[in-house]
Amino acid sequence: MKALCWHGKKDIRYDTVPDPVIEEPRDAIIKVSSCAICGSDLHLYDGFMPGMKQGDILGHEFMGEVVEVGPYNNRLKVGDRVVVPFTIACGECEQCRRGNFSVCERSNRHKDVADRVFGHTTAGLFGYTQLTGGYPGGQAEYVRVPFADVAPVVIPAGLSDEQVLFLGDILPTGWQAAAQCQIEPSDTVAIWGAGPVGQFSIRSAVLMGAEQVIAIDNVPERLAMARAGGAITLNFDDESVVERLAELTRGKGPEKCIDAVGMEAHASGTLDALYDRAKQALMLETDRAHVLREMIYVCRPAGTLSIPGVYGGVIDKLPFGAAMNKGLTFRMGQTHVNRWTDDLLQRIQDGQIDPSFVITHQVSLEQGPEMYKTFRDKQDGCIKVMLKP
Ligand code: NAD
Ligand code: ZN
Ligand code: ZN
Repeated sequence: MKALCWHGKKDIRYDTVPDPVIEEPRDAIIKVSSCAICGSDLHLYDGFMPGMKQGDILGHEFMGEVVEVGPYNNRLKVGDRVVVPFTIACGECEQCRRGNFSVCERSNRHKDVADRVFGHTTAGLFGYTQLTGGYPGGQAEYVRVPFADVAPVVIPAGLSDEQVLFLGDILPTGWQAAAQCQIEPSDTVAIWGAGPVGQFSIRSAVLMGAEQVIAIDNVPERLAMARAGGAITLNFDDESVVERLAELTRGKGPEKCIDAVGMEAHASGTLDALYDRAKQALMLETDRAHVLREMIYVCRPAGTLSIPGVYGGVIDKLPFGAAMNKGLTFRMGQTHVNRWTDDLLQRIQDGQIDPSFVITHQVSLEQGPEMYKTFRDKQDGCIKVMLKP
């Protein structure tokens, strides 16, 4: 079959690889009808996330048709149409039973490595480094789905791929980012990053009833999409984030701050950004913390920082004293996708949410390698890429 494979920094190829087969009795094989490139894939493309191996199949946002099921899988049938969450959940461990699916204790087949690096393992993820199991991803014609009797969401007839594909990652990610803020009607929610995750965070915060939602980015078409979703926008190239947020909150700062940027934050010329770039280049620091520092500084005392943006390793010079003395709450994590999917699928069916608005590019899987670059460089107005195998 054909698949997009990682061969090193900025080197993604459309390769021919062996077809997946059933390995465990609860597995299923999915014929992929649609998949997408996520901001998290860019961290692999840019070489910032450790643990990739030459030839690894990428992709963790995908859906399709069940073409084969293992003998113990009593839930899926051949022919079912499913969206597959990017977090692999066993459904039985203590964390899964509590709904903490992204920290499933059993689905990471490289648990020993993760135990050493993080102290405790987290869930296995599709197409996302050896540290989270080294599972082949879904930017491919076919995928093997482990524990396929737990997480895949069966899609009722009448909904298009465009409407439901993002149930597997970025829609629940934006939703969880907002839910973690426990938004109250008087809250200002400031959201850094108007990429796909930021866009869904914006719309979720609006739906959850925030008084004002402020989106921060420097890409005009992303800011325009944020305004269409109900946000006030702030271009950090043109104005001071600190000053404008103060102005919009009568000097008090936003109660809730969401980091939908993660470890590759840009900052034009600020001292901390130069410091981060230098340390990252020397491999003394893996992640650029500019957005985290800014959020700690501007957040209203007793406020909440919600962090869906991905970080991979260590960061430097985090003003922890400000965070501690201001009494800030930090909430973060890979998304517990299945915690939110029933509710979000219902909202899509009811017409309350239509996630397809975020798609700007729909092309064949073969064009994947060039689309990584287009998405990363924000060329051609690119906000979200959907790929068709
Ligand atoms: P993206 O790269 O398209 O979006 C990031 C946006 O941040 C870009 O529009 C960029 O211009 C903007 N940005 C950069 N520096 C900024 C700054 N200093 N201030 C404000 N904005 C800035 O990616 P995406 O798909 O939207 O993903 C965003 C983040 O969410 C990534 O880190 C990704 O890994 C993460 N993510 C996490 C989960 C999860 O489960 N927690 C799931 C999906 C994605
Ligand atoms: Zn993702
Ligand atoms: Zn589990």
